[in-house]
Amino acid sequence: MARPEIAWLPGDGIGAEVLPAARLVLDAAGFQADYLPGDIGWAFWRKEGTPLPDRTIELLRSTDCAFLGAVTSKPDPDARSELPERLRAKGARYSSAVLRIRRMFDLYTCLRPCKSFPGNPGNMSEGIDITILRENTEGMYSGAEWDKIPQELYNIRGMERVPRQAAITIRAVTRKASHRIAKAAFWRAGKGPRRVDAPGGGRPGTGDGRRLVTAVHKANVMRATDGVFLAATREVALEHPEVGYEEMLIDACAMQLVRDPRRFDIIVTTNLFGDILSDLCAQLVGGMGFAPSANIGEKYAMFEPSHGSAPDIAGQGVANPVAAILSAGMMLDWLGEKERAAALERAVAEVIQEGRVRTPDMGGTMGTMAMATAIAAKLRKGT
Ligand code: ATP
Repeated sequence: MARPEIAWLPGDGIGAEVLPAARLVLDAAGFQADYLPGDIGWAFWRKEGTPLPDRTIELLRSTDCAFLGAVTSKPDPDARSELPERLRAKGARYSSAVLRIRRMFDLYTCLRPCKSFPGNPGNMSEGIDITILRENTEGMYSGAEWDKIPQELYNIRGMERVPRQAAITIRAVTRKASHRIAKAAFWRAGKGPRRVDAPGGGRPGTGDGRRLVTAVHKANVMRATDGVFLAATREVALEHPEVGYEEMLIDACAMQLVRDPRRFDIIVTTNLFGDILSDLCAQLVGGMGFAPSANIGEKYAMFEPSHGSAPDIAGQGVANPVAAILSAGMMLDWLGEKERAAALERAVAEVIQEGRVRTPDMGGTMGTMAMATAIAAKLRKGT
């Protein structure tokens, strides 16, 4: 690829603080790109009545990929109350910028690795290495919602059980989206490196050295939607005998993740379950400051730390930049810069292991840029 063009979207709160940290590390890795700044976030909602102006969508359309800090989002009444009268009168309605981008560019895989780097004081245990693939375009986040159920829906069979005046959200699950997220999971399982820290060098879940995909669902209750999801993952599993496959209920999975996180390898699941499990997994390996993510489609991708704008710590320069830096590593990997991506991760691992630079979430006193500077220095030394 020629010099890549990256839409650079700092956004709100600590998003704008961790992006310069990620940039410092990308530069130290010797990565050459054009970073094109874009407007996104709460300030634009308040000024323009949208957190995602059209000019930013154009920027995304003209670049190779995007890198996002974080976007604040609030429930409807709170969002509307912050609009000037002029925009409220126009009937501006808040909708999540991140969800719009995921849907608009069909970024169907939300990839969230959670790894316990040796020496991280926040690790629940060593040897955790879980990758979550969350379906990113439908499910509970389909965007079809009503404050009141439209009257005509009450004529449908089954609706007699639904109370009048209820609000409603449609959980849409298609075979197409389920199939392609399952394919992405098995593709990763098939091509990924074997984990060496598990007993016997193989995966604890399969016991025979194969990698393991766990499909997480609630098909015993949500029979229609998760039935479609499971049928699709089973179909893909049959095409991949070289990979172990199991199914687990979402509630049991949450419990097992806390009880024995090392048994998990790759988790594939629907949108909301994936969102919740990825925060749970982040906490197993030190918290949101260690949770990178990538939203990947066929032609475009957007990289972002899994955390939000964290208003409680914003503006103090103390946010842990590791999640953003690891997201930058995922971007390098996606752009084909495999060696730089691997070097970046080694530099992160070394700084964590040494324990000289720790942000407050790790029990230390150092700031965002101190952590980034330490990682950049390792990279420049050629870790
Ligand atoms: P938003 O409303 O934008 O989603 P939030 O505060 O509700 O923001 P997160 O940003 O995910 O949600 O933060 C959850 C918790 O994790 C907060 O207490 C926050 O301070 C902490 N946190 C998040 N990211 C980091 C980080 N990079 N470093 C340290 N702590 C973090």
